[in-house]
Amino acid sequence: MSAPEQKSGGALVLFSGGQDSTVCLAWALERFERVETVGFDYGQRHAVELTVRTTVRDKLAALNPDYAARLGEDHPVKVDALAAISETALTRDMAIEMADNGLPTTFVPGRNLLFLVLAGAIAYRRNLTHLVGGMCETDYSGYPDCRDATMKAMQSALALGLDRPMTVETPLMFIDKAGTFALAEEIGGAALLRLTVEDTHSCYLGDRSHRHDWGYGCGTCPACELRANGYRQFQRQRKRAERT
Ligand code: ZN
Repeated sequence: MSAPEQKSGGALVLFSGGQDSTVCLAWALERFERVETVGFDYGQRHAVELTVRTTVRDKLAALNPDYAARLGEDHPVKVDALAAISETALTRDMAIEMADNGLPTTFVPGRNLLFLVLAGAIAYRRNLTHLVGGMCETDYSGYPDCRDATMKAMQSALALGLDRPMTVETPLMFIDKAGTFALAEEIGGAALLRLTVEDTHSCYLGDRSHRHDWGYGCGTCPACELRANGYRQFQRQRKRAERT
C-alpha cells in the first residue's frame, strides 16, 4: 500500500476495544502525528470489551515504532447516565431481538450522539482537531446514529458549539465487516489482522471462552454473527483474489 496522506492536527479515537474501533485506531496512527483514545463505560453487559482495550492499545503500539511514538493518552470515561436512562439489551438483562420499531433491542438511543459530544469536549481540552469513530452504515444493524448524515450533522454542531473546527472521520462508513478485515490487513499486514482477530472483542454477551477462526465470542449473538460472516466473506474474497 502507498503511504497514506498525513493529516495536520491531532486525533481522538473513540476506541472501545472492538474490531471496528481497533482498525480505526490503526488508521489514525498511520495519518496523525498525535493520537489519543477515549473509551466509554456505560454499564454495557459486554464490559469485557473495556478490559481488552489496554491489551489492544499496547499490542498496536508494539507493531510499529511510529505508532508507539504517536500514541498518547487514553481517556476512560464513565457514562452512568446512559445506563440509567436507557432500557436496552446492552445495558439490561433483556433478550437481544428485533423490537417493534424495526431496530434490535441492542440499540441504545442517542449513544453515539452523546459519545461524540463527550469526545468533542475532551478533544477541545487536549487541542485535538479530529474525532475518529468506527460508525458504519453498511451493515450497521440499522442504528440511525451510525448514519453518515448523522455524523455530518454532529460535525457541524460540534464546530458551532465549540467555536472550533472539529472534523468527524469515519473510515469504515461505507465498507462492510469483510472490508474492515481487509482494511486491517492493508494497513498493518498479517500482524494487524492477527491482532484484530485474536485480541479485539465484539460479542454482546462478553464471551471470551469460545475461540473461532474469526476470534472469541458466543457465536450466536448479532455481533458475533456479523463478525463471523464478515470474516468468512473476507477469506472468500482473498482466495478469489489469489486465484486471479
Ligand atoms: Zn456473541
